[in-house]
Formats: sequence, C-alpha cells, structure tokens
Amino acid sequence: MNFSKPVIYYEKRVDIFLLFINILPLKDNKNQQMIKAFLFDLDGVFYQDNQLLPGANAALEWLQEEQIPYRFITNNTTLPRKQLTKKLNGLGLRIRENELVSANYAGVLYLKKHGIRACQLVLSESAKADYIDFDTDNSLPEAIVVGDIGSHWDYDLLNKLMNQLLEGAQLVALHKGRYFQTENGLTLDSGAFVAALEHATSTQATVVGKPETTFFELATQGLDCQAKEIAMVGDDLINDIDGSQKLGHLTFLVQTGKFRPALFKKSEIRPHHLIPAIGSLKEYILSKDLI
Ligand SMILES: [Mg+2]
Repeated sequence: MNFSKPVIYYEKRVDIFLLFINILPLKDNKNQQMIKAFLFDLDGVFYQDNQLLPGANAALEWLQEEQIPYRFITNNTTLPRKQLTKKLNGLGLRIRENELVSANYAGVLYLKKHGIRACQLVLSESAKADYIDFDTDNSLPEAIVVGDIGSHWDYDLLNKLMNQLLEGAQLVALHKGRYFQTENGLTLDSGAFVAALEHATSTQATVVGKPETTFFELATQGLDCQAKEIAMVGDDLINDIDGSQKLGHLTFLVQTGKFRPALFKKSEIRPHHLIPAIGSLKEYILSKDLI
C-alpha cells in the first residue's frame, strides 16, 4: 500500500496551521533593546526525548563567537547539577556546570538563605546529593522540599507530608509544573501534588523554580545587564515566557518540545517572538537586528 499521499496531505495541513498561528498577534515590544544575554530552557528547546535537537550546539557556538553570555535555567529536579551537566554532555550538548541553574540548586540556596537545617526531601535519590549539608532524617522537619519523584507519589506519602505541614513545616516546591512531555505524551507533573497539599493544609507553598521571579533573578546574577536586555528562549508559555516577561525580559517561544498549536492559540500569554526551533535562532535574531 502506498501511504505517500495521506502523509503529504497531513504535512500540508500542519504547515497551514503553523502558518495560521504565526500570524496570531505577538506581544508588543515598542521599546526594543539589543540583546546582551540569553536565558535558555533546556528540555524541549535543546533536546527532546533524550535526542539533541538540530542546531543546538551551533546556536551556542555562535553566541560564544559573539561573546554574548548565556545561562541554562531548568526546572529539572531529578539530578544534581553535576550529574545533569554530565547527562547533557552525554546527549552531545556542549554545556558547562557553571552555566546551569537548576530548580534543585535553587532549593538549596533558599534553605540556606532562611537558615533552615531540618528538611524532608521529596526528591529523586540522585537529586538529594545537592542537599548533603542538611538534616534530612528528622521526623519534625522545618521544611518539606518537593521536586520530581515521577510515579512514586501515593496516598501514604501525601498523608505523611500533610501531617508534617499541619505540625508546622514549611512547604517548599522546586516548581509547580502542571505537566511535561515524555515519549508517551504529556505526563502529570509534581505541581498537581503540591496543589493537593496546599488545599489540604490551607497553606501556600514557596516556589523556588520557574516561573518564580526569585529563580530568574538568581539565574541572571552576574550577567551585568538590564532585565530588558536579557532574552529568554523556551517551549513553555507559563514557566518560560510568562515568568520571564514578569521581569521585563524579551521572550522567544520555540515550536518544539511541549509546544502545541492549540494550547498556544487559546493562551492569553504572548511571547515577543515565535521561532520554529533553536536551530533557527541565529538566522531569526540576525534578520531582526536584535544583537
Ligand atoms: Mg522546556
């Protein structure tokens, strides 16, 4: 059987739809500034399903040649910074540990800043490595740190955490992501469980990952430029685009990773720029004279 005709038909429909969303209004940017630094999301921008996306390293090489600094900011909380860097290097991405600000690392900084010693960690075993300076074996923790434990959530764990919160522990969420992209499609994220704990205990979690402003401020420390001179490139309208725009950054949404035309169309969040993928960043930036 020849499948070529239906495939071509489908691709044409996708092209037409992408053309349509490209003409939807983007966020107004009358006071355009030249970009002096970049913030990059990782998953869905530089790699997807453990595969490096085309042009990922070329984009970084170009910025290095232009001497434009960049940081990678990620809500990935399953690995400590060192291992995450190693994993990304293993995928072929030329990233260095000091260019990476993870939500897991932001949690460590938050606890230290507030003098918290005893904490209950709801993190993957490997992610706990970033927390070796804390008392993590205390039945009455001062804080509960919630990251990603995948499918290990269950009723007993939620019940134990709820009781610790009612005893006075503070709830610290590394992020409140709603869902993420896997090879099996969109998957429920830890933000849903944080919301359940907040509801049960009538408390509000302190969130230290994207899209919180504290995280963007931490990630841009030392970049020596104004907020409006910083560009954020991501695939997540809420965590990347909206979070970054709250600080006045210029935003670029890529149409890879968790990008879905239908979600983009119905969202009220508008990026300043919509680009096909990280591989087209250089050409797009140069065509618009943004650096
Ligand atoms: Mg992403």
